[in-house]
Amino acid sequence: MADVRLTRRYRFSASHRLHSEQLSVEENRAVYGKCNNPYGHGHDYVVDVTIRGYVDETRGRLISIDALDQFVQAVVLKNFDRRNLNVEVSEFATLSPTTEVLSQVIARRLSEAWPIAFGGSGARLEKLRIRETRNNIFEVLAPEPVGREEKFDEISESRS
Ligand SMILES: [Zn+2]
Repeated sequence: MADVRLTRRYRFSASHRLHSEQLSVEENRAVYGKCNNPYGHGHDYVVDVTIRGYVDETRGRLISIDALDQFVQAVVLKNFDRRNLNVEVSEFATLSPTTEVLSQVIARRLSEAWPIAFGGSGARLEKLRIRETRNNIFEVLAPEPVGREEKFDEISESRS
């Protein structure tokens, strides 16, 4: 059966403040501009989750949409919607919640939980796209199960 991609759209709203403890006050202002505002601000994020795999011959489906919705609700929306990302999402205790980093954090959480929910299905998580504003859209490939930690270590090192 054919190799098919499915993209399902989700939404959540969250607040953040872009600020790095490793940068001076002036550098923070230069790098993050208005987003360095001490009181933070919010975004209505749009998250597109793309799944890829082979269509089940009996059902003619790639994955159960209901199961995917429950999965994204439990892994992402429950933990990110109406949250202060800096304070309520553990990864951002040390990282600035830019949408570049947010997309990697969400992709990693989905990838880590994927095998438990869909391991036997033949469908895999391919990529994640997050729309932060009308003009800012970020896309990451889902980390591979092998070598994943290594990839993320490289990213966090390059940021410090
Ligand atoms: Zn922002």
